[in-house]
Amino acid sequence: MKTYSRGYFLFSIASATVALLDRFSTLAVAVQNPPAPAPPPRAYHKHAPTEPLPSTLDPSELQDNRNAFVIYTLVAEIKEILYQVPCYCGCDQQQGHESLLDCFITKHGVKCTICQKEALFCYLERKTKTPAEIRDVMASGKPQVDLQKYVDDYYQQARSR
Ligand SMILES: [Zn+2]
Repeated sequence: MKTYSRGYFLFSIASATVALLDRFSTLAVAVQNPPAPAPPPRAYHKHAPTEPLPSTLDPSELQDNRNAFVIYTLVAEIKEILYQVPCYCGCDQQQGHESLLDCFITKHGVKCTICQKEALFCYLERKTKTPAEIRDVMASGKPQVDLQKYVDDYYQQARSR
């Protein structure tokens, strides 16, 4: 039988333990950060519309809902942009929406704050960004807009007019 020195024996145990711990920590990291499932592609039109677009809902029908009233007022001005931008609320998968514009053709956008924030983002960014640039920002995360502040300011200004 081969004899190993006590030092070598301890060294072997130590390195085996390190290897094991290493494996565990790799596993632990894998469990904590499972690879994110690929997001589904979102529906939008790649080019500006070539035909007249349908009307968005008349905001005067939404007077009792401040957010909806303001947003539906804005979207009527930027239909061509919304047509070229996707919505991330899931309406393309669930309701067959083909772009963010479809959220405001109906009452869908009355209650959905995701759609409302996206629309406000498009409205605010449209003068400095192309639809493709707006899409890129939206794809990289939630559009950063303060919907409530915008709506409150809107009413504040309307009152002081
Ligand atoms: Zn939507």
